[in-house]
Amino acid sequence: MPSDCLFCKIVNREIPTEFLYEDDDFVVFRDINPAAPVHVLLVPKKHIRSINDLQKEEGPIVSGLFMLAKDMAKEQGVNTSGYKLLFNVEKGGGQVIFHLHLHLIGGWKR
Ligand code: AMP
Ligand code: ZN
Repeated sequence: MPSDCLFCKIVNREIPTEFLYEDDDFVVFRDINPAAPVHVLLVPKKHIRSINDLQKEEGPIVSGLFMLAKDMAKEQGVNTSGYKLLFNVEKGGGQVIFHLHLHLIGGWKR
């Protein structure tokens, strides 16, 4: 784990952050700069830089992220109204924290 990784520090509780969900493999917390009424980040505890760096054996992490997204969308009350799931990949893709995470964004009034 890179010692300067913000999300590793959040996962390891070196930076206090309220977790909406935690299990052995993932944590979920609110984005500090929300783009919508609901904006949460689903973060694997394992440090993986981005989608580009995924190894074949890490497939269960990706499927786990999507299954968790489904559950968190319901928990956040946006499963029926709808939401977006987003991976930013590398600088050109808008990634600023280089620890894999899935954005769950929704809650707009439409
Ligand atoms: P990305 O652009 O995909 O790397 O997204 C990183 C996200 O992390 C941004 O939406 C930031 O607002 C969010 N963020 C940065 N620092 C924190 C923090 N300490 N707690 C929660 N979210 C954060
Ligand atoms: Zn990390």
